[in-house]
Amino acid sequence: MNVNNKHNRHYHVGLVDADLLCNGTRHPNLALLKLAGYFKDNGFMRRTSESDFADVSTYTLLTNESHFEELQTLDHIYVSCVFTFTLDKPPVLLATLLKDKKLSKKVHLGGTGSYANLSVDNGFAQKREEDMHRLENDAFLNTLKNKFGANGIDMRNQMPDYHLYDEYISVMELQKSSSKYFKDYKEYSIGFLTRGCFRRCPFCVNKLERKAVPYSNLNDFLDQERDDKGRLLRPYIYLWDDNFLASPYWEPLLDELIATGRPFQFRQGLDERLLAQSKRGEEMAKKLANANYHGDFIFAFDNWRDRDIIEKALKIWKHYCPKKETKFYLFCGFQQNFTDDKKFQLDIAEIFMRICVLMRYGCLGYIMRHEDYKKAPISNIYIQIARWCNQPGFYRNLSFWQFCYKNQTYWEEHTLGIKHDRLKTYDEFLEDLKNGYYDDKKICLPLKTVHDFLVKFDSHKDLFLSFFNLSFKQMVNPALWERIPSKH
Ligand code: SF4
Repeated sequence: MNVNNKHNRHYHVGLVDADLLCNGTRHPNLALLKLAGYFKDNGFMRRTSESDFADVSTYTLLTNESHFEELQTLDHIYVSCVFTFTLDKPPVLLATLLKDKKLSKKVHLGGTGSYANLSVDNGFAQKREEDMHRLENDAFLNTLKNKFGANGIDMRNQMPDYHLYDEYISVMELQKSSSKYFKDYKEYSIGFLTRGCFRRCPFCVNKLERKAVPYSNLNDFLDQERDDKGRLLRPYIYLWDDNFLASPYWEPLLDELIATGRPFQFRQGLDERLLAQSKRGEEMAKKLANANYHGDFIFAFDNWRDRDIIEKALKIWKHYCPKKETKFYLFCGFQQNFTDDKKFQLDIAEIFMRICVLMRYGCLGYIMRHEDYKKAPISNIYIQIARWCNQPGFYRNLSFWQFCYKNQTYWEEHTLGIKHDRLKTYDEFLEDLKNGYYDDKKICLPLKTVHDFLVKFDSHKDLFLSFFNLSFKQMVNPALWERIPSKH
């Protein structure tokens, strides 16, 4: 019998990854992993459908409606939600947890999804503050002990229980064709070495923060578990740091990561501007470029107004990292509304102006849409641009126009048996349209969207066509970053 709390009784706790219930995520929720680790450290057993622990405290991941009956038997249910859209249309289990009066007393809801959309005028600061300390202040968690022997969870230093999702994954793997689909749950140690940022972007949850500060120690989340052959179960590391390079400790922390010998990556993107703005930017670039980095290097190019500093930093970065793939998140869609055509045109133009810079430096883009994009006058164009830009095979080999047109020819070939020997220009498409070619054929959505856009903004048609015809292969220019060796 194991009772490790001051009430001398057993507890049964449910953990809910709200975004997972909505299929909105492909990686584990770090707050829940840490909560699970805390319960585990306090002698709770992880309960699965196979296990029956009558005489101990337990914690369990609730993943679908099959857990309905269990809800009444649980003492506490911790719900974590990262994305705001999850709460817009909650699935049945989540809606029940949030609305059922009896249950609501034991439900503890937190995470950025519960407040990220609030403006500063609507109480963002207070909600953020509450959320950042919610678990540390939680009455039930404060009846248990952390690894330092004090009461209450210490989120920074709490080791995650990386097995929390095991049962869910083993069931879901039978349904997914690729064994790599769940790699984020199985192959990585996960954490924050730093938190916060100084840039105060209005669309970001860090909009009121002032700096990047140290958070967990690497050893607090570095998994050491090995299989029976002695191989690390989780050989990689990924980090959720908001702006790692803004930390004054970036160098010792980077050295620590490198010293693990494990490939690592920063999932939120790195702030490339600091390579140009920091006095030690060249050293930053060199150390990062030579590290055992896992996957593509990802930076952010969120605002067109940063173009000069981004280009300056790109010249440094590409000098040290000319070959490895470099990708930039391209934020867009923020504060769009149904009636503001001007704002919409500008947003679309600025996406392509940023892509133009990236193509010249041989870099990939990755469209990150703020959910306001749904309110744009032709919102589907964001979806089509993301379908093109976020798939390197298309981005490298086709212009955006060609991508949209190819969707049509592919459909015609596979549905109507009409073969096309080349991709036509927009003007040739217009000619076909005028001549009745499409009278008896549907025009597929990507092509219809780009055509609707060019018709609506006819006065800027040539400009937008020049954007839509951008070709990676024609744009890339190594002379932009190559350094000419000095004669002395
Ligand atoms: S730079 Fe990134 S992390 Fe910092 S405030 Fe802007 S979006 Fe947020």
